[in-house]
Amino acid sequence: MAKEVVMLHDVSRCSGCRACMVACKQWHDLPADMSTEFEGEYQSHKDLTSTTYNLVKFNERLDSKGKFHWDIIKYQCMHCAVPGCAEGCPKHAITKLEHGPVVINEDLCVGCDYCSMNCPFGIPKLDEKKHKSTKCDMCYDRISEGMMPSCAKTCTAQAIDFGYKDKMLEIANKRLAELKAEGHEDACLYGTDGENLTANMIYVLPEKPSVYGLPEQPKVSDGMYLWRDVIKPIGKLASGGALLGLAGMMIVHSMVKSQDEEKNTDEKGDHIKDEADKE
Ligand code: SF4
Ligand code: SF4
Ligand code: SF4
Repeated sequence: MAKEVVMLHDVSRCSGCRACMVACKQWHDLPADMSTEFEGEYQSHKDLTSTTYNLVKFNERLDSKGKFHWDIIKYQCMHCAVPGCAEGCPKHAITKLEHGPVVINEDLCVGCDYCSMNCPFGIPKLDEKKHKSTKCDMCYDRISEGMMPSCAKTCTAQAIDFGYKDKMLEIANKRLAELKAEGHEDACLYGTDGENLTANMIYVLPEKPSVYGLPEQPKVSDGMYLWRDVIKPIGKLASGGALLGLAGMMIVHSMVKSQDEEKNTDEKGDHIKDEADKE
């Protein structure tokens, strides 16, 4: 089995320089988004787009003492251990690779957008022109050649790290202990309990996940499992049943028709017989 890799974002080190956003666009040859609007904040895009796989978010917050905080986080696909996007894809176009990345096969994607609906973070974005879903692919083409993901390679603040699972967990646990010692009571890890992974993208957070707009308990909706495990199979059975029903109707119809024909023939025969008797 391939050794698992993990991307680690230490939020406490991020300066918000956005070099990772530029590096991601450069590697994937993605254009700038021209439709972003200035709303008096430092934020560039409101959300990820089909041409922005990596977004630095600037959450502005006043704490209980009225002190202003800028809670900065690099936001992209979490590369979940059990990816809702892949589980819900009717065309099996999304794969969780053995070593961690979750990737979309563009050739198989039909642009139905179910992946986004079934992602607890709403990460995949639909390219309306190509009719394909897009998201961060953990630069799996780079890492398969022994290179770092483009964003991790670029970060000069060393807020992004990348490597094998054990090493990344060791670094994450050490940083968490340091943050706690510095007085960050709510500091936590996200995407891992410190030992096991729920995602191959993990965060060291100085504050609660909700401060950064992350769900406290990310979960694939029960509706997806209901659709995939119950409604879809029943739908298949129903369509199979409809075919059987149609075949049954055709058989019944032909039986009735042949009975009618027999009856008509009998009646015709009786008529001929009557005519013969008259003669
Ligand atoms: S390059 Fe590093 S420091 Fe700059 S925004 Fe990205 S994660 Fe933060
Ligand atoms: S974050 Fe969303 S898109 Fe990424 S692997 Fe998880 S479910 Fe899929
Ligand atoms: S891993 Fe690659 S695709 Fe994902 S955010 Fe970083 S540069 Fe972009």
